[in-house]
Amino acid sequence: MRFEFATATRIVFGAGTVNDAGGLAKEFGRRALVVTGRDSSRAERVLASLRFAGVSAVTFSVPGEPELKTVEQGVKLAKAGRCELVIGFGGGSALDAAKAIAAMLTNDSELLDYVEIIGRGQPLAKPSAPFIAIPTTAGTGAEVTRNAVLASPEHRLKVSLRSPLMLARAAVVDPELTCDLPPALTASTGIDALTQLIEPFVCNRANPMTDGLCIEGLRRTARSLRIAFSKGKDKDAREDMAVASLFGGLALSNAGLGAVHGFAGPIGGSFPAPHGAICAALLPHVMAMNLRALRQRVPNGPALYRYEEAAWWLTGDSKAKADDGVKWVRALVLDLKVPQLGSFGIRREHFADLVAKAANASSMKANPIMLTPEELTEILEQAL
Ligand SMILES: [Zn+2]
Repeated sequence: MRFEFATATRIVFGAGTVNDAGGLAKEFGRRALVVTGRDSSRAERVLASLRFAGVSAVTFSVPGEPELKTVEQGVKLAKAGRCELVIGFGGGSALDAAKAIAAMLTNDSELLDYVEIIGRGQPLAKPSAPFIAIPTTAGTGAEVTRNAVLASPEHRLKVSLRSPLMLARAAVVDPELTCDLPPALTASTGIDALTQLIEPFVCNRANPMTDGLCIEGLRRTARSLRIAFSKGKDKDAREDMAVASLFGGLALSNAGLGAVHGFAGPIGGSFPAPHGAICAALLPHVMAMNLRALRQRVPNGPALYRYEEAAWWLTGDSKAKADDGVKWVRALVLDLKVPQLGSFGIRREHFADLVAKAANASSMKANPIMLTPEELTEILEQAL
């Protein structure tokens, strides 16, 4: 056995911790770029905490999932404001944008030199500017991951800027920030978190540290995602989901993902579908296909047992079988009213292109079994 585990330098978790942002920030500088989602006014508590700590702020709002040019705009703004640190406040989009801006603030080459697949994929030369991540969804776990997902509309792809040097100096996870999330967003981001616990747990790079995190995250998601969806103000459920999202981020960045995320890049790059919604639509079908392929081709491998163990934690029944886990996820996706892929404009004529791109995605390589193009196409068919 051999593994490595790296994450944010500090993780501060708990209700009200958003008020600690200023105190943390002033250790890194006096001027911060605060990257937010569409509505910057939601970051008022962060801005107040910065003012109190004597840190001035320039705000930069990222309305959708970030593109390469979003990062370039943010870097320009940060340089003009002589910002010494970057704070990301929002969902995965704002956090990834902030993470990439922090990296490009200290690295002098063009963004494309560092981006994988469509760029030259060179390693970052210098550590990022200090970066603090404050998630407001639960979520992507982006507060503890070492990559930023960026869209390139001209390539119809989503690609990553990736480096261990991009890990946050501090991740501040305040579950209260998620209490106002509307049900549909709670559902899609919550099922993304669930996916990011299941895929690292069954993937071919799982390790004992990520296993422990996945099991605890699955247990909490199973007991709390439905409650967070139907009773948004339930603090215990929101706290469970914030833990689950954080643990999913820790697990995926130190183990790997699988076919759901292998599809998420190409689909998200070509269609206006939020990441969480894509994952939610695909998850039960990928699980079922992986099980079928494993039974046919590696019936005695460890992954089948992994799926069975995941099913215990999801159903709360220690006699559950792998298929019961799939059944549980199917029921969840129905109860949480997750839309099918067709609702985002995906049609059968797009399948061949999506399958070809997904087969090359880095997440696909961690899937517990190599799926054939026919199997990948069947997954899309079922999720349509
Ligand atoms: Zn995800």
